[in-house]
Amino acid sequence: MTFLKELRSLISEQEISLAEPMAKFTSIRVGGIAECLIRPINSDSLVKVLGLLNRNQMALQIVGGGANTIIGDEGIAGICLKLKNESNTESVELDSAGATIEIGAGTPITRLIALMKMEHNSLVGAEFLAGIPGTIGGAVAMNAGTKNGECMTRVSEVELATSDGIGWVSGMSFRYRHTDIPKNSVVTRVRFKLPRGNQAESKEKMEKDLAYRKSTQPLTQPNFGSVFTNPPGQFAGALIEQVNLKGHRIGNAQLSTKHANWIVNLGGALAKDVTDLMDLAQSRVKDSTGIELHPEVKRLGQFK
Ligand SMILES: Cc1cc2nc3c(=O)[nH]c(=O)nc-3n(C[C@H](O)[C@H](O)[C@H](O)COP(=O)(O)OP(=O)(O)OC[C@H]3O[C@@H](n4cnc5c(N)ncnc54)[C@H](O)[C@@H]3O)c2cc1C
Repeated sequence: MTFLKELRSLISEQEISLAEPMAKFTSIRVGGIAECLIRPINSDSLVKVLGLLNRNQMALQIVGGGANTIIGDEGIAGICLKLKNESNTESVELDSAGATIEIGAGTPITRLIALMKMEHNSLVGAEFLAGIPGTIGGAVAMNAGTKNGECMTRVSEVELATSDGIGWVSGMSFRYRHTDIPKNSVVTRVRFKLPRGNQAESKEKMEKDLAYRKSTQPLTQPNFGSVFTNPPGQFAGALIEQVNLKGHRIGNAQLSTKHANWIVNLGGALAKDVTDLMDLAQSRVKDSTGIELHPEVKRLGQFK
């Protein structure tokens, strides 16, 4: 670890964790060890680490809530970043139409929903994010959402950290499950603009959505949500079912019996079990229908 001496001269020891097991930081609970996990205590530390990565031509590797990430069995070489939960630095600025909520990127999405629901705020418009696990930074990077809406339609500005410093950006372009975050940038804070509206209707929407999730998704088993994005005009789950892979198991990973586009960890699965299942689903669907399935889940680290 040639970078370690330099790192120790830049940030405090409490921000550095060596040989950190990473499976616990992902919702599917698989994957190896990070050589060096860094949890910056503030933006100054973060910018210093980004500078070090830049000078040493090391890749930026970042995990948010790990709800859409699979980490390789061989672990993560170099530096992996994970932001802290910063709900103590949030702000809600009310105006005549609604409010601007500013919130740290390492904060869980659930905090945004809680702020929206608070009676004195009386805000609406982000109901579709209820039930999506992960952090605010991950929701922006992934443009998380459902058929009822997408995260970035509610975002007015995003604060980005690079090796040059920190700054707010507006008008970032986005598409289905993707936001164009400039290379080597980390989302550090996000401003959401939400209107004031009918709280009872908003709560009802969220309850309905959560009940639908419970009945259709394998939420009691470790998973990372949808494995593949839906091809235009198609459903990835239906295509996987069509090629008889619903419930198919490799090692301790399974294409869920409840929803074929979800992989569950039955206990002690390896990342390789998961990626082998993904490869199998992709090749069977391609051979049978000609349709290419594209993973929604992000890979981090080294895979066998
Ligand atoms: C039960 C379940 C249900 C789900 N339902 C949905 C759903 O309905 N809709 C949906 O869209 N998704 C869904 N997901 C997937 C997941 O919740 C979302 O993609 C979520 O936005 C991921 O956030 P995260 O913080 O966990 O991101 P991670 O998985 O940690 O990271 C995802 C990507 O974002 C990048 N990233 C994370 N933080 C930052 C940052 N601060 N700056 C720059 N890049 C960053 C990572 O490098 C990675 O490329 C579901 C997942 C589960 C487990």
